[in-house]
Amino acid sequence: MSADQFPLLFDGHNDLLLRLFKMEKGDVQHLFLDGCSTGHLDLPRMIKGGFGGGLFAIFIPPAKVKDTDSKGEEMSGPKYDLPLSPEIPVHEALPIVFAMIAILNRIERESKGRVKICVTAAEIRECFNSGVIAIVIHIEGAEAIDKEFNSLEVLYRAGLRSIGPVWSRPTQFGHGVPFRFPSTGDIGPGLTDSGKELVKVCNQLGVMIDVSHLNEAGFWDVAKISGAPLIATHSNAYALSRQSRNLTDRQLAAIGESNGLVGVNFATAFIRADGQMDADTDLDELLHHMDHLIEHVGIGGVGFGSDFDGATIPGKIGDVAGLVNMRQAMIAHGYDEKTMDMLCHGNWLRVLEQTFKA
Ligand code: ZN
Repeated sequence: MSADQFPLLFDGHNDLLLRLFKMEKGDVQHLFLDGCSTGHLDLPRMIKGGFGGGLFAIFIPPAKVKDTDSKGEEMSGPKYDLPLSPEIPVHEALPIVFAMIAILNRIERESKGRVKICVTAAEIRECFNSGVIAIVIHIEGAEAIDKEFNSLEVLYRAGLRSIGPVWSRPTQFGHGVPFRFPSTGDIGPGLTDSGKELVKVCNQLGVMIDVSHLNEAGFWDVAKISGAPLIATHSNAYALSRQSRNLTDRQLAAIGESNGLVGVNFATAFIRADGQMDADTDLDELLHHMDHLIEHVGIGGVGFGSDFDGATIPGKIGDVAGLVNMRQAMIAHGYDEKTMDMLCHGNWLRVLEQTFKA
């Protein structure tokens, strides 16, 4: 089967930019545009898989990234608890954010119209209608945002439209959850005063706030303060995998009530009941999460948040080209045509339209 038999897919999370950034070569845009044999994402494989667009995360790696970048091995054994790096100051984070946005700008410029950085939902829809890959800039962890929000104003003009106040390490805005199994998200205090202010400023600008990685107290603070739909870009159901990165049924209900969305995460550690990073994970287990999310958030509030290039994913997906297998499995599972449209991109586009100001 080929990708054009299925609806195009909008994806809530990938770590392509981190992978390209770590390559430390000047022309990494060509590795993306022409294709490469490593990682999960490049343009030829996206087209093959029917990937229409998504949020592209900017993540600030800890200083010793090469020493700490082996989560696959570390997230094994019946229990694990990975140490988190300390807070990263604004002046260290900002040049890395610039470098990753620069990679995206070069990709867009040299793509000859095949890729576009989008700042409105209308632009994303236009891309979906014309076969152009739509990129929305997201930062995962607001380390680069200063308390006066000066960098936010500038990054907004550079195209930033989505922010996770924290990755898992703390920021001046809030506290994240650990990579620990088993674990609960009910750990640590909520948003700081600056974090609460960040939510209000983002609401005013029409910048999406992502609650994935936030601890529970932070989640409920966002739920209380934000006037926008609640969005978890890449999280699964806690009822099925006891991971602090996953959402309880109470959180899922709150997301549903806000007309928000959860992007189902392909990371096997957040799918499996045993919390392991193991590619030998059946797609049925992923579909089980999707059903649970649909039951608790509602059919209009579930989409994708693959974590491509950021996690060990089921071997039957393998990389972005394997989205064809994924959608085939969804149809075999019984989702009808209308449901497929909603899950693959309709729900994401609706929620972004309600979140962005234009
Ligand atoms: Zn993440």
